[in-house]
Amino acid sequence: MKCQYSLCPNEVEIQSGHRPRKYCSDSCKQNAYRARLDEAARQAEELARQERERQAKAFLRQEYGDLLPDTIELLYQLRQSGHYNLVQSIGWAIVAERERVTHAQERARLAHAIMNLGEPDYHSIIVADAGHSEFVILGGRDAWQGFTEKASLEHLRTIYELYIEPIERNQLKRAKQS
Ligand SMILES: [Zn+2]
Repeated sequence: MKCQYSLCPNEVEIQSGHRPRKYCSDSCKQNAYRARLDEAARQAEELARQERERQAKAFLRQEYGDLLPDTIELLYQLRQSGHYNLVQSIGWAIVAERERVTHAQERARLAHAIMNLGEPDYHSIIVADAGHSEFVILGGRDAWQGFTEKASLEHLRTIYELYIEPIERNQLKRAKQS
């Protein structure tokens, strides 16, 4: 029978009347024991590494949004190579790109609702909200159209909250009652 220490080529002598030995010598027995400890330590280290990777990727998702797995992997690898500032710059750029899209969609939705609000007369309104400075939409369809194209997203949101949301809430309430 071969010695059970993987790196030892020796055969173990079979002695009659004794329990069969696994190792050819005490030093092989010791070496095999150390090898098992090393393997256990290696496995524990690998588990710890995987856990650190999982946490780092969760952090990236939390900071920069639920990005595609390949994007998270790319940012993670850059971070592992010590490029912390680069990862942050790319992450913020991605956030800005995504916001540009969602803000454009929100603008289009608000502009449409505000034009509906102005129908059919489009008369001039003064908008005053506690948190915001006063601003005016001049009368006429062109003026309203121009306003929805040029006003800040904040102003569009303010008009929506003050004038359109209450109407929608009432409509919803009536729809539920009927
Ligand atoms: Zn041996």
